[in-house]
Amino acid sequence: MRRRPYHSPVQPILGIDFGTTNTSAAWFDAQGKLKVAPVTDKSAVLPSVVWFPSADLTKCLVGQAAKTQLIDDQKHTVFGAKRFLGRRFNSEYVSKHRERFAFDLVEGEDGYTSVLIYGQTIPLVDVAGVVVRDIVMRAARAAGHPFTHCVMTVPAHASVRQREAVRKAAESAGLTVAAMVNEPTAAALFYANLRSPKQTVLIFDLGGGTFDATVMRVENRVVKVLATGGDAFLGGGNFDELLAESFAQQLEDKQGVSVRSNRTVMQRLGLAAEFAKIQLSRVESLDVRIPVVAQKASGGFIDFQHKLTREEMENIVTPLVERCVGACDDVLQRAGLKPSDIDELVLVGGQTRMPMIRKRLAHFPRLSSEKDLNPELGVAVGAAILGRNLRRTRSSGLNDVVAMPMSVMLVGGRTVEIIPGNTPVPCTKSILLEGLPPWSAPVPLLLFESLDQTSVDREIIGTVHISEEWRTRKDVVPSLELSVGQDFALTARLVAPGGMQTQLQIVDQRR
Ligand code: AMP
Repeated sequence: MRRRPYHSPVQPILGIDFGTTNTSAAWFDAQGKLKVAPVTDKSAVLPSVVWFPSADLTKCLVGQAAKTQLIDDQKHTVFGAKRFLGRRFNSEYVSKHRERFAFDLVEGEDGYTSVLIYGQTIPLVDVAGVVVRDIVMRAARAAGHPFTHCVMTVPAHASVRQREAVRKAAESAGLTVAAMVNEPTAAALFYANLRSPKQTVLIFDLGGGTFDATVMRVENRVVKVLATGGDAFLGGGNFDELLAESFAQQLEDKQGVSVRSNRTVMQRLGLAAEFAKIQLSRVESLDVRIPVVAQKASGGFIDFQHKLTREEMENIVTPLVERCVGACDDVLQRAGLKPSDIDELVLVGGQTRMPMIRKRLAHFPRLSSEKDLNPELGVAVGAAILGRNLRRTRSSGLNDVVAMPMSVMLVGGRTVEIIPGNTPVPCTKSILLEGLPPWSAPVPLLLFESLDQTSVDREIIGTVHISEEWRTRKDVVPSLELSVGQDFALTARLVAPGGMQTQLQIVDQRR
């Protein structure tokens, strides 16, 4: 996982926020003016949706044009790819969530999740690459020059493999990744750029697929992460899912039809739910109409019709909002702070446009306003600021942390944490490897990331193999050392007191 040395590029570094739902990009031009990649006349966000109209996979459409196909050609329209990017197909996460999508997810040659389009297997990294390439093209057209380097953002809880997949997606779009930054950290950079004095902020980032809560200290435009947390399984998509579920329940209660096992219908209900949810951020009630959702046993068609009020929706999604608030409390507690210690709660991510979220967070002294912080663009702009800093000074001006603790599973199944959560990067930590078995074959040790030691939902980083020479010398107890670089690149070494050491290859497999 070693990276090439980095040299400052001639052109500005493009900040790219490749999101579950939307993608955006920003940069500072030669005059130091902030620019965002235009998508339409009115918008700078590109829906992260790709439509493959035919078996010629090179001819695909991206963005709004693809999004309209979510109804008409569900099998060939890929959305929410980021949710599955860098995840093994046989992981619990993928088996739990893939049913929600009408397109076919399959196992790629490398064991990671791919999509099956017209009988061809496409790695999700390539689908992500198509979206990234599209936004880069739009940026280049507006800037009048090509971009060669970028800063990519990732959710704070992205695993090593997910980070790597995002990097590969950018590389497949022809870019060199100058840095990877956690989305909330990027949002804090944006915030720091606006306000600049010393402040303690809580970044509340609720996008389409993940929720991150991060407490940071901003001082002279330098950002220090005090604690980070959140929920990698909670985002706007879950709000849509709960609403869609309530629509399905109504169809069952009123019409006696069960649609839950029909992925196509559930996807339509989900899209209608998202549309209604977004409208209800503006209006108090709305007629939800979905024509021809199901067929009666007698043969007639059923339309779904329901007048949904904001209040009813809020009741349905309360448990999700409470999960967000609980995660905030947890992060504050870990930072040793109270809500009153937070100078500003910065709302990032499209889902924070829901008025209920603002209302529920009213116990914080101050919430960022939508006027000066566009919740959808803050992350890309933060990445652009980091890009500008990197190009000017070669230093990022930030202090990111490892969000997910990294651990090793020893022979016999015992797990030991090596790098605790919230450790500032770059960092190097080690543990003593005592009692290694005297087999003649190399001993495999599994490295993984997990927020919780007992969790089954582990993200496997890979395996390192301890060769025989390290196990046969009785006088030497080696240490396993893990280092995380500023760019989150991970390296592993074995070291012994006498100066003996060896670099370990982290193999992307379980054994
Ligand atoms: P992001 O990943 O930041 O682009 O956020 C996307 C999520 O925000 C999706 O789940 C959208 O449904 C949700 N979203 C966008 N606009 C609104 C809105 N006005 N009200 C509620 N949710 C919204």
